[in-house]
Amino acid sequence: MDGSAAGAIFFAVLFFGITFGSVSLAIAERKRRSPGGFFLVGFLLGPLGVLAAVVAAPGAPAPPPGMRAVICRRCNARQNIARDQADYECWQCKLVNPSPPTNPARYLT
Ligand SMILES: [Zn+2]
Repeated sequence: MDGSAAGAIFFAVLFFGITFGSVSLAIAERKRRSPGGFFLVGFLLGPLGVLAAVVAAPGAPAPPPGMRAVICRRCNARQNIARDQADYECWQCKLVNPSPPTNPARYLT
């Protein structure tokens, strides 16, 4: 194999990797999943990466502005609370949970 054939194969692999990666990224963004992660999967696996993006379960919707998503420690129900709320009552099991810290790194020092 001479240099030009190796170069052509390299650019063909790069072209198909970027193509399948971009398709996977677009599908993942619409499903609220990690676009960068699915671009990598599509780039490395080609059509199998696109298939993985198609069958992946949709991600959870982002919380509204000024709120954050928390998960009940008893029943694992997901709910949105105010960003600075100290504790909250779970809508499903009625357990009063303390709010997890907004920035865990702040509590390490
Ligand atoms: Zn609960």
